Amino acid sequence: MQDIDAIVIGSGIGGLVTATQLAAKGAKVLVLERYLIPGGSAGYFERQGYRFDVGASMIFGLGQNGTTNLLTRALSAVNVSQEAIADPVQIHYHLPQGLDLKVDRVYEKFLQNLTAHFPHEKQGIRRFYDECQKVFKCLNSMDLLSLEEPRYLLRVFFQHPLACLGLVKYLPQNAGDFARRYIKDPELLKFIDMECYCWSVVPSDMTPMINAGMVFSDRHYGGVNYPKGGVGQIAQKLVDGLEKAGGKIQYQAKATKILTEHGKAIGVQLANGEVYHGKRIVSNATRWDTFEQLLPAEEMPHNEKKWQQNYQKSPSFLSLHIGVKESVLPAGTECHHILLEDWEKMTAAEGTVFVSIPTLLDPDLAPDGYHIIHTFTPHWIDDWQELSPSEYEAKKEEAAWRIIDRLEKIFPGLDTGLDYLEVGTPRTHRRFLGRQDGTYGPIARRKLRGLLKMPFNRTAIPGLYCVGDSTFPGQGLNAVAFSGFACAHRIAVDLGF
Ligand SMILES: Cc1cc2nc3c(=O)[nH]c(=O)nc-3n(C[C@H](O)[C@H](O)[C@H](O)COP(=O)(O)OP(=O)(O)OC[C@H]3O[C@@H](n4cnc5c(N)ncnc54)[C@H](O)[C@@H]3O)c2cc1C
Repeated sequence: MQDIDAIVIGSGIGGLVTATQLAAKGAKVLVLERYLIPGGSAGYFERQGYRFDVGASMIFGLGQNGTTNLLTRALSAVNVSQEAIADPVQIHYHLPQGLDLKVDRVYEKFLQNLTAHFPHEKQGIRRFYDECQKVFKCLNSMDLLSLEEPRYLLRVFFQHPLACLGLVKYLPQNAGDFARRYIKDPELLKFIDMECYCWSVVPSDMTPMINAGMVFSDRHYGGVNYPKGGVGQIAQKLVDGLEKAGGKIQYQAKATKILTEHGKAIGVQLANGEVYHGKRIVSNATRWDTFEQLLPAEEMPHNEKKWQQNYQKSPSFLSLHIGVKESVLPAGTECHHILLEDWEKMTAAEGTVFVSIPTLLDPDLAPDGYHIIHTFTPHWIDDWQELSPSEYEAKKEEAAWRIIDRLEKIFPGLDTGLDYLEVGTPRTHRRFLGRQDGTYGPIARRKLRGLLKMPFNRTAIPGLYCVGDSTFPGQGLNAVAFSGFACAHRIAVDLGF
């Protein structure tokens, strides 16, 4: 490729949305991906007739209406589409003190279910979740593009002044502040903590209200929808669209260096020594990998040092990819579950257990008569270092059986119905996803003012942009798609497209 406009390092959803948006505008784009397939944490792998999602399974952004259905929009921008299967329940919670609750797709039904557990908080529950709906209505009324682009900000302000003022109000706030304003019951407040923790990996006090407003409302609007064929299809389709639009992707192309000249990013060097030059360079690697590995750590810009003082790496996960006999799943089992037995352990390693059974929505992902259970729980990489190969295997096995034993509560007979088991650790996440310490993404070190300190796409190095979960607005497929739209918009304006 000659005269490349933008080189994107990494084909996670953030990188691919940036690439496809730019290609759709006529830019020449090259994506460099270190792995064999696209998608990163939204990728897949196949074993013995099962197609497992690597990470994400609860997908927002595949709805049909509004402006926040960013995955649908990203796909259609490059003339591809993805069949989506509606999930009637976002999560089935199995929480301490018998708090057993389903988050129904229908808003009123969810409020009723929750109020049945906390009738004395009927009003507070409605006021808290209605406040979240207000955030969502503001977001869902406007095109979501780069907040670093003054002309866009001006245009959107004139088109939607009230929505913009609403968002400015919510931007520096956290969900926990609103929860405590409306709700007093300590157990219900713990439930709200879990509602946040299960996607932000921090309690409500530290979860930005903008993100909470999105998740707690979109699940009742666009809803949670599973992509037919598995989550990996989203990235595959984006790549198809990228190529149709004239862009290119190169696999097994591990970037080892971002090249600079007079302080400006001008190219990328690969592990095999190949060098590519582009007018703009985009890193879809985490900020830690970008500023400590791809660029010299000792020359880290001041604002990146400050960012690291505000944000730390969240833990990684212990993941179990399980194939089970159909008989293991009781009738009426939902797709997504959260299990916790002791509130004190919510944020601890092996505290909260996440479960997804995508074959309940798309049976074609497993052989006939079998299902996939993907379960994961937070774990730190430090606990998996300096082990001999046999110690590592033994530790994996012990940890896996601890989780399986706990899951027997929801799926009696899981142990005997097991057909396939593959265990991933933080080391697996680091190796296959190329993420430092296998981290899920950045989390605030202490309570910050909402999303105010989360950086946008431009960096202190001219010509270098970041995209993905270590940029505004954070983790999740739809969130990194937002980051991709914003990044492409900013670059397109900078390059005059
Ligand atoms: C276990 C788990 C469960 C999750 N569940 C959900 C869920 O249910 N719903 C949801 O919305 N989100 C979920 N997430 C979060 C979501 O998957 C991520 O936030 C999102 O996919 C991150 O996208 P990204 O574009 O920022 O980067 P990534 O997915 O990390 O992609 C980055 C890409 O860059 C490549 N790369 C990195 N370094 C280099 C290099 N030097 N050279 C070339 N290529 C490189 C990587 O190989 C990778 O393909 C989950 C994540 C995990 C791990």
